[in-house]
Amino acid sequence: MAKLKNPKKKPKSSKKALIKRKVKPKKKRVIVGAKKIKLAKVIKAKISKKKISKLKVINKKTEAIEVSRSRYTPKLLRGMKDILPEDQIVREYLIKKLVKLSKAYGFQEIITPILEERALFEKSTGIATDIVEKQMYQFTDRSGKKVVLRPEFTPSVARAYIEHGMFNLPQPLKFFYYGPVFRYERPQAGRFRQFYQFGLEVLGSESPLIDAEIILFSQTLFQDLGLQINIQINSLGCLNCRTTYREELKKYLRSRSRTLCPDCQKRLSKNPLRVLDCKVPQCQEITRQAPQLINFLCPNCKNHFTKVLECLDEANVVYTLNPYLVRGLDYYTRTVFELWPAVSEGEEDSNSSQTALGGGGRYDPLIESLGGRETPGTGVSYGLERIINEIKIQRVRVSLSQGPQVFFAQIGESAARQALRIFNDLQKQGIKIAENLAKTSLKSQMKIADEMGVKLTLILGQQETKDKTIIIRDMKTGNQEKVDVTKLVKELKKRLK
Ligand code: AMP
Repeated sequence: MAKLKNPKKKPKSSKKALIKRKVKPKKKRVIVGAKKIKLAKVIKAKISKKKISKLKVINKKTEAIEVSRSRYTPKLLRGMKDILPEDQIVREYLIKKLVKLSKAYGFQEIITPILEERALFEKSTGIATDIVEKQMYQFTDRSGKKVVLRPEFTPSVARAYIEHGMFNLPQPLKFFYYGPVFRYERPQAGRFRQFYQFGLEVLGSESPLIDAEIILFSQTLFQDLGLQINIQINSLGCLNCRTTYREELKKYLRSRSRTLCPDCQKRLSKNPLRVLDCKVPQCQEITRQAPQLINFLCPNCKNHFTKVLECLDEANVVYTLNPYLVRGLDYYTRTVFELWPAVSEGEEDSNSSQTALGGGGRYDPLIESLGGRETPGTGVSYGLERIINEIKIQRVRVSLSQGPQVFFAQIGESAARQALRIFNDLQKQGIKIAENLAKTSLKSQMKIADEMGVKLTLILGQQETKDKTIIIRDMKTGNQEKVDVTKLVKELKKRLK
């Protein structure tokens, strides 16, 4: 019996088999050196650019399909943070306080896009800074433009000021902003790759009073929050004073360069002032003896700084002079300051986070460096995650008076039907009320009301819907009283006083 051919069996491709089938075997071509390069060029020329990009798209698509079909579970990126509902109480409290205080000081909100041109930060923050050199999330958009996720706000505010011709408005202009910023840093406690900043900028005034106002704002804010902080302050002088100082500093550091950490050895030629900021003990040892910038200030800068300090003294602001504070960005001139959690004596290793809660300063050359008219400016930005953490560490009681005072509970179908209308009516009347209509049992609704710490709970059951009444329960005493629905608002306002 003839052997049946197995249809699944692959055809033989061995040399012998091919000769049998009179097919010439393909010669294995060994290509070397220049020939190889030439061949590659020919192949490249044959495959048009269009075809290459088509192939790339296909590759990406198949990769995406493979990932979407795989069992891979996507995770939160390193250095990123989810802000969950339970984190909102402190966060909302802090933002409300910041907005209220900013408005009281005459600041107006400005919102700029998260995505900006890369050149904006290269021209302002500075190409030799860590932020621009190492930390930006950057990519090329579909039009080929180099863009970044903003690593800070000040250049964006300055760009908006120039682009919208705000120099034509009565000066100075006072802005506040808040939102996420992105820096590709090594994550650690209090250091994220996406974090939120709240900040102030004053554009169009050179007055030392404005520097003092922003520092006073910071002191008032932290006092209001019940947080103990230490304000550190220094003057970097103008670009002229800094040039002389930079040379002196370089001379001093060069003679000790072998002892500096590898990062500072690089900083020495590019941005020697950053060495003063270094936290490595061996570098700090050296910088402690370094010439101080304050001794190189020109008469104008010296006068400006003296006036800032006088204004602060007048306003009872408590500060520490730190001759080594430099803040590392290119645009800073004259006053610079940072806000640190206070550590009392003997508490050096207390649970305080020991990371700066905020920082700022004057940046007179910034607007001009971005193509605008000569416009002085000064500002501050606070790290929200770090302040929230400090609120928790220093166990500050956050007042929940902004939260709901009344909880609305309903039992049964007819009550559920009326619930939304009653809830909405009470909201409109200005009653701070919460609900959880997805829950049907009274027990679970009372549990939520209890956790929220409301003063009163309204209970609407079958009987109450028939009588057009509602029960008001005092959560502290447990007393319950039935009231007429028409008199509910009046009753609630009386009890919530
Ligand atoms: P800077 O302008 O870099 O001094 O930033 C201003 C403030 O933002 C700092 O004082 C911190 O409170 C906060 N901040 C800076 N970088 C980070 C980060 N990577 N993660 C969390 N907060 C940060």
